[in-house]
Amino acid sequence: METDVAIIGAGFGGLGAAIRLQRTGFTDFLVFDRGDEVGGTWRDNTYPGCACDVPSHLYSFSFAPNPRWSNTFSSQPEIWDYLRGCVDRFGIRPKLRLRHEVHEARWDDHRQRWLLRTSGGDHTARVLICAAGPLSDPAIPELPGVDEFAGTVFHSARWRHDHDLTGRRVAVIGTGASAVQLVPQIQPLVEKLTLFQRTPAWIMPRRSRRISRAEQAAFRAVPGAQRAVRAGLYLVREGMGLGFLHPTVNRFASRLSLRTLRRQVADPHLRDKLTPRYAMGCKRVLISNDYWPSLAQPNVDVVTAGIDRIVPDGLVTADGVHHPADTVIFGTGFHVTDSPVVRRIKGRGGRTLGEAWTPSMHAYRGTTINGFPNLFFLLGPNTGLGHTSVVLMIEAQLRLVVAALRHMRTSDIQAIEPTAEAQRRWTERIDQKMAGTVWESGCESWYLDSTGRNTTIWPGFATSFRVRLRRFRPADYQVATAGTTPNETEREHADAV
Ligand code: NAP
Repeated sequence: METDVAIIGAGFGGLGAAIRLQRTGFTDFLVFDRGDEVGGTWRDNTYPGCACDVPSHLYSFSFAPNPRWSNTFSSQPEIWDYLRGCVDRFGIRPKLRLRHEVHEARWDDHRQRWLLRTSGGDHTARVLICAAGPLSDPAIPELPGVDEFAGTVFHSARWRHDHDLTGRRVAVIGTGASAVQLVPQIQPLVEKLTLFQRTPAWIMPRRSRRISRAEQAAFRAVPGAQRAVRAGLYLVREGMGLGFLHPTVNRFASRLSLRTLRRQVADPHLRDKLTPRYAMGCKRVLISNDYWPSLAQPNVDVVTAGIDRIVPDGLVTADGVHHPADTVIFGTGFHVTDSPVVRRIKGRGGRTLGEAWTPSMHAYRGTTINGFPNLFFLLGPNTGLGHTSVVLMIEAQLRLVVAALRHMRTSDIQAIEPTAEAQRRWTERIDQKMAGTVWESGCESWYLDSTGRNTTIWPGFATSFRVRLRRFRPADYQVATAGTTPNETEREHADAV
């Protein structure tokens, strides 16, 4: 089947793209998703305690405020509901192709179309928007012996609700954003919880509260009130960005975090294990009021020795100690800088995005990639944020997508891709801006790729990203008009000059 725009992924990015296209008159599009419902990461992550650590009024589309948020920080079910509600509110449902996993998207230079091979059939599209998301494919470390484990093993993003944890001996591996939320929820249920920690996290208090019915009513009656709250939160969060860009600013926050740790954990030995020894912000700062207190409970062991192997009845650490377990939960994160989707997208000459991004990811404005005509990649390289809502970045990218599509339409352009030079200049500026930020302060994190480059985070304020993406700049793109390829047009242009 032929469609004008194919969108991969029906999470925040893909649904945002669909709604923006619909509202700007580009109504010939389809959204492909391998799941049987929309929601992306908010559909997949159903572990106990799953919630967002960005305020609800900011972690939502600017064009779809939700006056019914029940808490200042929303839980997973409520965010998932919100996304499903957006589908109905904007009439996107007929455009969804659920249970359609995209196995391959290949650019055909001759036809100037993307050819999609999906589990639900083949499609062609003029434009491809990849919104597969950086947190969609769980990363599970290759630990020897895992196949011989006699109990139950699962990842936090594939929670086994059919496996009752009551009275069990549970091993949790990892202490990132997911583990910090799920550990306090399961600790009271289990007989024994062994938490395998490689690096302790910086944790700040979670200052959340219920949003009263009166406030909800006010937001419904006066939409401007909710916009004002959002604007206030936007400014506060941008202010928090200072701490990442100028690490000395974070000293105050570090002191507050350590004071909380002292108050919540009396045992000095445990406290020592939980004390981070790297600059706050170098890895994602977590928020929780109940994580540290839960680790101080008598049925919890925090193990800092490395895991050597898994055996049928537990885990053995490098110091030779055997830790009995009948359930292993991996809270070990996602394939962020090595997402499988990049091996499925093939640009000019059949080169995969994965190959183009080896050893390091590059994209012009985090969105378009030289060698990949008419591809827009949402939440691409260096579009992540440590201090505020990533939805702001998605929306900035979508403004650029719409501006590009409009330019193509008015100038009768078949295909666009950024010039290698524009992409190189953009990457160089990012690398320069990264220097001196907290992410370069020496810790290991999933923000960094195998070369040590930070290809994940935008080293600035959300505002500066939005400003830079506001306009489509034709000079930074090579184009193909009917009957040419971008390369030919480029050569003709060079000959003419
Ligand atoms: P994560 O932040 O990548 O944390 C993974 C954890 O697993 C880290 O503690 C890591 O240790 C540990 N780990 C990885 N491999 C290991 C191994 N072989 N042995 C021992 N430990 C290992 O993953 P996540 O917690 O799932 O969160 C991923 C991202 O999802 C977050 O950063 C955030 O962007 C998002 N998220 C957000 C929320 C929220 O809004 N509240 C909630 C959940 C997730 P090291 O630190 O030593 O690498």
